[in-house]
Amino acid sequence: MTVRAGREFLAIPGPTTMPDEVLQAMHRPALDIYSEEMVELTQGLLRDLSRIFATKGKSYIYIANGHGAWEAVLSNVLSRGDKILVLESGRFAINWGNAAEAMGADVEVLKGDWRRAVRIGEVEERLRQDKDHKIKAILVVQVDTASGACNDIEALGKAIKATGHPALYLVDAVASLGCMPFEMDAWGIDVAMSGSQKGLMTPPGLGFCAINDRAREAHKKANMRTPYWDWSERDKAENYRIYGGTAPVHLLFALRKAIDMIDEEGLENAFLRHRLLAEAVRRAVSTWSEGQVVNFNISEAAERSNTVTTVLMGNSYRPADLQRYCKEKCGVVLGTGIGELTGQAFRIAHMGHVNAPMILGTLGVIEVGLQALGIPHGKGGVEAAIGWLGSNVPA
Ligand SMILES: *Cc1c(COP(=O)(O)O)cnc(C)c1O
Repeated sequence: MTVRAGREFLAIPGPTTMPDEVLQAMHRPALDIYSEEMVELTQGLLRDLSRIFATKGKSYIYIANGHGAWEAVLSNVLSRGDKILVLESGRFAINWGNAAEAMGADVEVLKGDWRRAVRIGEVEERLRQDKDHKIKAILVVQVDTASGACNDIEALGKAIKATGHPALYLVDAVASLGCMPFEMDAWGIDVAMSGSQKGLMTPPGLGFCAINDRAREAHKKANMRTPYWDWSERDKAENYRIYGGTAPVHLLFALRKAIDMIDEEGLENAFLRHRLLAEAVRRAVSTWSEGQVVNFNISEAAERSNTVTTVLMGNSYRPADLQRYCKEKCGVVLGTGIGELTGQAFRIAHMGHVNAPMILGTLGVIEVGLQALGIPHGKGGVEAAIGWLGSNVPA
């Protein structure tokens, strides 16, 4: 028997739960892609994306997932043979670097490890060693969705500036934009990229990047440019060119609605909501960890992301059993451990369209699963989450 019925709940880090309003916004005919309405939709979204990235620079929208937006960034600012420095904190920056290598860049990985964020002192030291400025770009993620690490993008930006090194600072905000502070200009970021299907609550299929003047200068000399990704192609006046072809009309309707919803809540409130709900998850995980089987992947509390929590499972208990139980018996889909953590971890996403019942429900189901499967755990994880929210969400 099961206790699942109705809508399955996705607690995976993308695609995330889409609000009904966003789904409904797509339920209409397409627009004439040359119409005034279409031009206004586009211009409004480009303005709003730059506002959410917190830049005076220009944004671009691609019909692509995050991998596409990665390629957009690389191809627009790099030339074959350019040396780039990839900062490891899990899987995603490494994969971005792999794309760069396949495109002809000379990739150096600054070794990190899966249990912690990027160490800023190590980046500073590597840049100071690079006296003749061979390194053309630095690649890093704000949140690594595999490890659950959150990198301090502001402090990294300051450290890069302090070395006087001119490398471009390229930041992946796929698993963080709209969920936690991101200040492209203030933090010295040259190109930021993201996607639609995580914090932005929109179907997969849109990739974004935002660029500053330094990136535009590099773009002029870049020889990895190809027509679809090319910023200069997209700067041409005609609306059709802005998308490198036919506009993804329905995804734009969805994104428009999602951004309107974020604005209605207020970006600052959305950040606070994510912080509060993430801490509720951490209180529960911390309580469960008393059973000596489950624990946080990220060792330092300050380096744990407010959008996804990666939970290790040891003593030969299998995360897949818990995931199967939660999905098949209770209708909650947890994220799976990926990369180095395959078979060793599960992930709880708390990004985008999430609220207290979704998070408490997810935590409750996990606790039911831990009990049903006889996986040792500290009792009262959900109670700890409730205690946290009860004292931090004032009446
Ligand atoms: C999901 C994700 C990506 C890749 O996005 P896709 O849409 O799956 O291509 C890149 N970076 C981070 C940090 C992500 O979480």
